[in-house]
Amino acid sequence: MTMWVYGFGDGAAEGSAAMRELLGGKGAGLAEMSNLGLPVPPGFTITTEVCTAYYANGHAMPEDLDGQIADALGRVEAIVGARFGDADAPLLVSVRSGGRASMPGMMDTILNLGLNDRTVESLTRRGGDARFAYDSYRRFIQMYGNVVLGVAHHEFEDLIEAHKDRRGVTLDTELEADDWRALVEGFKDLVARRTDEAFPEDVGDQLKGAIGAVFGSWMNQRAMTYRRLHDIPESWGTAVNVQAMVFGNMGDDCATGVAFTRNPSTGENAVFGEFLVNAQGEDVVAGIRTPQPLTLAAKQADGATKPAMEEAMAEVYGQLVDVIGRLENHYRDMQDIEFTVQRGKLWMLQTRAGKRTAAASVRIAVEMAREGLIDRPTAVCRVDPASLDQLLHPGLDPDAPRTVLTRGLPASPGAASGVVAFHANEAEDLAAQGKAVILVRVETSPEDIHGMHAARGILTSRGGMTSHAAVVARGMGRPCVAGSGALRIDYGAGMFSVGGHDVKAGDVITIDGASGEVMLGEVPTVQPELSDDFKVLMDWADEVRELGVRANADTPADALAARNFGAEGIGLCRTEHMFFNAERIVAMREMILADDTAARSAALERILPMQREDFAELFRIMAGRPVTIRLLDPPLNEFLPHSDAELGEIAKVTGVDLDTLRHRAGRLREVNPMLGHRGCRLGISYPEIYDMQARAIFEAAAMVADELNQTVTPEIMIPLIATRRELDILKERIIAIAGAVEDERGVKLSFLVGTMIELPRAALRAGDIAGSAEFFSFGTNDLTQTTFGISRDDSASFLETYQRLGILECDPFVSIDVAGVGELVEIAIERGRATRPDLKLGICGEHGGDPDSIHFCQRVGLDYVSCSPFRVPVARLAAAQAAVKSKN
Ligand code: PEP
Ligand code: MG
Repeated sequence: MTMWVYGFGDGAAEGSAAMRELLGGKGAGLAEMSNLGLPVPPGFTITTEVCTAYYANGHAMPEDLDGQIADALGRVEAIVGARFGDADAPLLVSVRSGGRASMPGMMDTILNLGLNDRTVESLTRRGGDARFAYDSYRRFIQMYGNVVLGVAHHEFEDLIEAHKDRRGVTLDTELEADDWRALVEGFKDLVARRTDEAFPEDVGDQLKGAIGAVFGSWMNQRAMTYRRLHDIPESWGTAVNVQAMVFGNMGDDCATGVAFTRNPSTGENAVFGEFLVNAQGEDVVAGIRTPQPLTLAAKQADGATKPAMEEAMAEVYGQLVDVIGRLENHYRDMQDIEFTVQRGKLWMLQTRAGKRTAAASVRIAVEMAREGLIDRPTAVCRVDPASLDQLLHPGLDPDAPRTVLTRGLPASPGAASGVVAFHANEAEDLAAQGKAVILVRVETSPEDIHGMHAARGILTSRGGMTSHAAVVARGMGRPCVAGSGALRIDYGAGMFSVGGHDVKAGDVITIDGASGEVMLGEVPTVQPELSDDFKVLMDWADEVRELGVRANADTPADALAARNFGAEGIGLCRTEHMFFNAERIVAMREMILADDTAARSAALERILPMQREDFAELFRIMAGRPVTIRLLDPPLNEFLPHSDAELGEIAKVTGVDLDTLRHRAGRLREVNPMLGHRGCRLGISYPEIYDMQARAIFEAAAMVADELNQTVTPEIMIPLIATRRELDILKERIIAIAGAVEDERGVKLSFLVGTMIELPRAALRAGDIAGSAEFFSFGTNDLTQTTFGISRDDSASFLETYQRLGILECDPFVSIDVAGVGELVEIAIERGRATRPDLKLGICGEHGGDPDSIHFCQRVGLDYVSCSPFRVPVARLAAAQAAVKSKN
């Protein structure tokens, strides 16, 4: 018999933390906390396998599920001493989803289930308060009515507003028991009108409906959007957790809150979080009331006026600190915890690894290793390489003038400027037009996810550091200022006002998610300083990593940045990028359009000293580290003159008339330049070009070797090789030039000649090509283009559709297609090394900076990856993680 339901509570559980796939994150956490003997309201988890079975069987639940639920419910009743649906001692439960990966706010929750016209009376007696009981009942009808029965949330809110108007009050807290009683009737009427059925009185029907709705919500639009954005497979499914209710809203000795064992923004090792007195479940996360800090230190730092939990509920706070300390020690990671205090007693409702900013994740990893909680390789694996982008994000230029409109909570770091949009769809449309957007909302909800993703930054007027906006923005790496209470947002008028300023949709503002400042107009940004912890973590990464990390760098500025980020050399210098300045391009065009070798050589003579200095500068910066220089590989059309003015310039220099030049340029034009006269094909047709480049490289190497008194060993790389013969012809000329330079200068040069492997034929013929090539560097941009037959430049228009339809899991130009392109790489490695066992192997396509692709590179045994300078830290960390993984 399949076990579909796992119980927990009273110091024991059928599940454990290890069963996350089956129980979901929340269910596994509840089971583990129960096993640790922590105070967890008893309950049970219906497994993710039920969700999968439900969808596989045309929305039908497994047959024996009902019986297992009844048994589990019976055990909960026995622990609590109450019975589900009982008129005297009714058990009330919460029903929540909980997938394998956390999906904050994406799935629905129902609280107070088990209330009906009979049990509500008993709740009044037991809670001692009719107001509380009827408020709980109406919340239940509202949540259930919305989530299970599909009645719009605002219809319930409208009824509350109308009732308050009739009573002449403005706050929910001013409503009495009779008001809520009347509203309960109003809510039930509303449900009956909208659904043609009475609100279910039968608690068994209620539970069935709620469980079905959680499984149903796995496929709602916002869950699907979230999964797409976070690469969560649909096949994982969600679990459902049914748990005895505890109430944080029974009076002033009750509370509900969220705590992090360390600060999720900065990583500081101090309890961090928020709570609300006399409030229920979701109120903190939903950002409806602005919560109070847990600690006195946080209260003082924020200048908050209401008491911190540490002072308002000192004893329970002490228990909380003790419990979360135990949880962090147990999980050896920063935990994000939800708790409720019912009549002075602490209850734990959730624990999970806390989401954190990149800066926090680095600090926490380094400090936990120093505290002995984890070892260094584990610390290295704790930081998501992609999140380092956040650390490399710009901050505000401290010297730039600014008009600060107001301040809010610094919810997610980074600075961003953009035009104001008040609605998610609007933000998405503007972003699609290429505009930078700041999404401004009173508060955000899961319906806004797409707009938050499209926006450069997010600003809210309500909610705390754990509000939806804050949590989601941190996860996405978007700067966010939350709870900026002085903003008066008027959606209808499309504007907000603050401190005498009116800001309309379309006006530009800047937000700084590190300080919480909101500023008028655009404030310039600067690159960040990297923290000492970051450097330490990177050193630890370097200790464990096996892959070398080089940079793709064509200019001295790139090369310097690459060194600063820890690159161990240059894996690709694209020399065509050195020809785009005004002076050089004329000489280049003159050379391409030359009618004979003599004219071509004359143009190249002028370029040679410039190239020599280019290379010398790179050699100086890299100071003996490897520098791979790729000989010219331009799609020819990029160099051809387009206008008469450009042709005229060449006519002037060469003395050739305009018509002749136009005719020659016309002959060189190509239908498909990407597959045309580029790469080594250019070197084969115009050998003088590569001759000049080889000479410039050798002369520079000799010069810098002399300056530095150190060997400089350039790696000369030939692009777009398909056959060994191409390589042989070119290599022979390069060696001849080396010989000439050695004779002229009386030096001995050290160098390698190798090739890019970027065409399928080259990969297949690698055994042959390695007879001549001393190294391979995989040009996976072209290899992907030519393997798929998809143009690098034109793929955007349809690749998105391919991903949406699941034809491709991800963009193969971003993350290597392991099955296809990857197989060609593996073939080339195997055949290349069979011919030349010490063949040096690298990758220099964009994939060299992509964490997933780097795991592939480790697995197939490359020597190094090369990527753009800003990706170097990402690559160092990903390479370290790949090495750790390969040992486990
Ligand atoms: C490649 O094709 O992967 C490569 C690195 O070369 P380029 O991008 O310059 O064509
Ligand atoms: Mg290429």
